[in-house]
Amino acid sequence: MFDTILIVDWSGGNDRGATPKKDAIWTGVARAGMAEDPVYHRNRQVAESWITAFLTAERQAGRRVLAGFDFAFGYPAGFGQVLTGSDDPFAIWDWFAARVQDSPDANNRFDLAGQINAMFPGTGPFWGNGLPNRDIEDLPRKGLARHGHGMTERRAAEENAKGAFPVWQLSGAGAVGSQVIMGLPMLARLRQHFGADLAVWPFEPLTPPVALVEVWPSLIARTIAATCPRGTIKDAHQVRVLSRALSAISADALRQMLDVPPNTEGAILGAHHVVALEAAASAPPLRNDCFALPQGVQWTPVADALAHLRAQLRCVAEAETQPLGAALGRYLADDVTALRAHPPAANAAVDGYGFAGPAKPGLQNLPLVKGRAAAGQPFGGAVPQGEAIRILTGANLPDGVDTVIMQEDVQASDSMITFQGPLKRGANARAAGEDMTLGQIIAQQGRKVTAADLAMFAAAGIGQLQVRRPLRVGVLSTGDELRDPGSSAAAGEIYDANRPMLTALVQQWGHCVVDLGRAPDNRAALRALLDLGAGQCDVMLTSGGASAGDEDHISALLADTGSLALWRVAMKPGRPLVMGLWGGKPVLGLPGNPVAAMICALIFARPALSLLAGGEGAEPQSYQLPAAFSKTKKAGRREYLRARIRDGKAEIFASEGSGRVSGLHWAEGLVSLGDDAMQISPGDPVTYIPFVSFAQ
Ligand code: AMP
Ligand code: MG
Repeated sequence: MFDTILIVDWSGGNDRGATPKKDAIWTGVARAGMAEDPVYHRNRQVAESWITAFLTAERQAGRRVLAGFDFAFGYPAGFGQVLTGSDDPFAIWDWFAARVQDSPDANNRFDLAGQINAMFPGTGPFWGNGLPNRDIEDLPRKGLARHGHGMTERRAAEENAKGAFPVWQLSGAGAVGSQVIMGLPMLARLRQHFGADLAVWPFEPLTPPVALVEVWPSLIARTIAATCPRGTIKDAHQVRVLSRALSAISADALRQMLDVPPNTEGAILGAHHVVALEAAASAPPLRNDCFALPQGVQWTPVADALAHLRAQLRCVAEAETQPLGAALGRYLADDVTALRAHPPAANAAVDGYGFAGPAKPGLQNLPLVKGRAAAGQPFGGAVPQGEAIRILTGANLPDGVDTVIMQEDVQASDSMITFQGPLKRGANARAAGEDMTLGQIIAQQGRKVTAADLAMFAAAGIGQLQVRRPLRVGVLSTGDELRDPGSSAAAGEIYDANRPMLTALVQQWGHCVVDLGRAPDNRAALRALLDLGAGQCDVMLTSGGASAGDEDHISALLADTGSLALWRVAMKPGRPLVMGLWGGKPVLGLPGNPVAAMICALIFARPALSLLAGGEGAEPQSYQLPAAFSKTKKAGRREYLRARIRDGKAEIFASEGSGRVSGLHWAEGLVSLGDDAMQISPGDPVTYIPFVSFAQ
């Protein structure tokens, strides 16, 4: 929705000097989930020209900007009528713009507030004259001195913002009233300056490229406090965290935040979506060096490379609530607690007859009580000791019943049953809560929801789940020689085999694919596609362009960001893998060769995407099977062979040539041969991983 987020921590006070200080003006800028270093502005004059220049530059670059300011854009309803004779909030902005006098060392805000108070009956609504040596007529120093002015103390917008200060209070720690008076003239001038290119939320539709919104960093005070580094000024940190959070949050979540009823008082962005905002704020960005493998290691073992991914990658997908019916394949964002015991009450496990156990050895005769107990149709009365009742599977055990005898073991007449004892107390009965107890944690965060899980959740009384939204995975092929399947191809051209394959894998893994198409071997074109992908995706999978040759543009571009890691993994097949961040989004650069691309995707991209999506980097299930082949293997690298099971043995594709795409089709899984040297003879056990183990 927006390319750039600007957050302004405004100030109503005087110039704060040349060195960065708290309670001054701070601005934070973030794009694609990455925040720039906050900027210090010593006074409002320099801040206003910086903001104007910044918005102008963003406009010229064609970027849409959401600019958030930490003060109220409006006053409680009715204020405008008294001040300007109209309910139009912009009339209030213009009123202040025409009357506020401001310089780095002095301004007239207290006098102006006194003049406004004089327009109201009684005393107030403004209070908090902050001038120590001069009383101002009509502006009380204390809030309690006010009466009869007729204004409400708070805007409706503040109901969901616990701890927000009323706009009437002009001084005292945390007061915001002065910031409003000293901020609205600046906003009025921005409006004037940018004209039709700018809109103000929630007063106008946000179609133009620049949107001004009201924010309140304290909505995420917890995260700000928890993440503020020692010695960092909180005002600086909070514009960084809030801008990054709003830039990282999904377009859908932002759209929901912006969706408020029209009003003239203004609204606080995210006040009703604190959980989502906190989640976006508390997720630290991936570090630029997150893919850097230990220095000095020539070839990294597969296991070490995988351990590195597990240590460095973390979930980047926000949580959302979904009904059970929509949760299949999603990762749980939270542990799940049973809302009900299962079974909720003791009941019969079979069709038969219930009575108070145990039954002694030998022939038993029990008279039958009238009536029966069935699932959903409990027997209301009690069964006397020494008598029995007809009971069906799933029926709650009536009072006096703790044991059930199967109907197959009973001779029954209308009034009596006969059977051979003994029978243990509790036989064929299910105890209440024997499966799950109320409040028990029944599934853990990070689990991918299965069909079986849905049965368990439903049984435990759960109707909706906190799950991660699907991960958006961009798929991009590179190479001048590539053509789309189905089109014509000249000699020297080949069909793009990787994109259909990678797209299908990503779909099988339950993520959302963003087809980024093909990039020619041209740096500018590739950069444009990566920019596009960084805006639309959480992570990008590329193939080709990853060798060390002249046409190695992916590596070159990632090197420019300072995040490039060339993975030389000790495995076959395997060219170097290229890892890095583009616009803060991970890029996994797979080899171009389709066999290597697919095997590297299964081994590395699959766990990486699982971790980013909120999972645990799923290990594929493997089996030990006797080999149907012989092979000699050198030490020092792992080998993955295209394989399948026939007659209970693992056989491998005749050619190990990694250009043979048909071998991928022939295979039904991979044989994985360990890092050490080995001589494999027919009948020796080998590790076989069926493709279905990689399919989710
Ligand atoms: P590269 O890493 O770009 O040097 O590519 C290595 C080999 O894989 C070359 O033979 C490429 O033509 C081939 N290749 C690259 N991308 C694809 C693709 N998407 N589909 C099929 N072959 C490819
Ligand atoms: Mg290429």
